[in-house]
Amino acid sequence: MFEYSKAPEAKLVSFASSYGHFINGKFTKPSNTYQTINPATEEVLSEISHGSAKDVDLAVKAARTAYEKTWSKLSGSERGKYLYRIARIMQERARELAVAETLNNGKPIKETRDFDVPTAISWFFYYAGWADKLEYAGLGSNPKSLGVAGQIIPWNFPLMMLAWKIAPALAAGNTVVLKPSETTPLTALLFAEICQQAELPAGVVNIVTGHGDTGAELVKHPDINKVAFTGSTQVGKIIAKAVAGTKKKLTLELGGKAANIVFDDAPIDQAIEGVVNGIFFNQGHVCCAGSRLLVQENIHDDFIKKLKRRMNSLRLGDPMDKNTDVGAINSKAQLEKIKGLVKKGVNEGGELWQPECKIPKNGFWFAPAIIDGVSPANTVAREEIFGPVLSVITFRTPAEAVTKANNTEYGLSAGIWTEKGSKMLKVADQLNAGVIWSNTFNQFDPTSPFGGFKESGYGREGGRQGLTAYLKGGH
Ligand code: NAP
Ligand code: MG
Repeated sequence: MFEYSKAPEAKLVSFASSYGHFINGKFTKPSNTYQTINPATEEVLSEISHGSAKDVDLAVKAARTAYEKTWSKLSGSERGKYLYRIARIMQERARELAVAETLNNGKPIKETRDFDVPTAISWFFYYAGWADKLEYAGLGSNPKSLGVAGQIIPWNFPLMMLAWKIAPALAAGNTVVLKPSETTPLTALLFAEICQQAELPAGVVNIVTGHGDTGAELVKHPDINKVAFTGSTQVGKIIAKAVAGTKKKLTLELGGKAANIVFDDAPIDQAIEGVVNGIFFNQGHVCCAGSRLLVQENIHDDFIKKLKRRMNSLRLGDPMDKNTDVGAINSKAQLEKIKGLVKKGVNEGGELWQPECKIPKNGFWFAPAIIDGVSPANTVAREEIFGPVLSVITFRTPAEAVTKANNTEYGLSAGIWTEKGSKMLKVADQLNAGVIWSNTFNQFDPTSPFGGFKESGYGREGGRQGLTAYLKGGH
């Protein structure tokens, strides 16, 4: 393959050497700092403050004051103006945000540039439009905001998850305290600068960085009205327990183990692309990733042969290279988790195959993988790997496909590949998943609600439904 020169955007972003929290419209003095790195090189990008109970308390107090004195007094159209302004500044700074996200997360620049950042921006534009139309949203004649929302997000789509949380909360008239993931705080801190640039009233958005314990402090703070969490099912359960018995509202967006079902009448080349996109997009660090391939038995051999040929052309390497398909794994801990689960899959009888890839010397990397011959009872068929690993399972009839697809603790998403519309609708109707794609995968739009069943959580983000999470009477 040809080698390409480095993307010119590499110089577009400069981080401060250290960051404090963003509280009441200002950055605090950095304290109790830890290093945040580029997972593709292990270079240190900046020093980040580890938030304490006191920091969380200051942020909640600022959010409460802003709610009572300013934000709840503004009309919907005034709130909307701020959201539009934020969206437009994000557009102006889109390249910088994309580079920052790639550097701090390890995902390819082509994804941050064409997916993460534009999607995050579209959420602000979309919810800006709702701010002055809440009375017409079918949610009662005079919907009321909740107050202060505590929001906790994961590392896989840092800016996009921030947008999914902050845009609807502000549109509905709430103020927020957000805690980004410990490994990916930088785009949230750039977003704090954008709030300053947009002259958003102080305290409406507060960002407290830190580890899991910082998140736990936010969840248990007595003066928040709402907890919105996206992350693992394990932490989701801890949060559900902490919130039980309080008046706080709760939404949980948790893990997944989606089935991507390929019938023998599917458009095969399209299905190959969809399966590749479904599991190797963002190194498989996607809650709704199509991590279980359910392929009809009579096309299994041919399909796997074609899939391997396609996987041989995936480029793994420097995330700043515009031609990179598979970037770095976000952290050493996540890499260890992936390796451990893959080892289990092999020990339980799965056949591991990976294309030959040159793995860079520094950073955290895992070559795209398929594990064939998996049975539904195997660990790699049940547990979320959250990495570029596809478990392959076969089925003979549509009924068997449905049974196997639903045989999971999770219920976030699913994919169906067939040219027969009636089969697609019938199967979709029987799948227990919040989002079902057909003849495509991983499509997102701010107008479309997203969320799970069972251990994938409850509540919906996106669309008109996403507003209910931040209004009285909703989830
Ligand atoms: P995680 O470990 O559950 O962490 C999520 C967030 O919670 C992080 O900010 C984390 O801080 C914080 N946290 C950890 N322990 C906490 C506690 N006891 N109380 C309060 N907050 C706490 O998940 P992750 O590893 O970052 O993300 C991967 C998971 O997110 C996967 O399971 C994936 O499926 C899920 N996810 C779901 C969706 C969805 O929409 N359904 C979307 C994206 C990701 P630290 O970073 O410091 O640990
Ligand atoms: Mg974590």
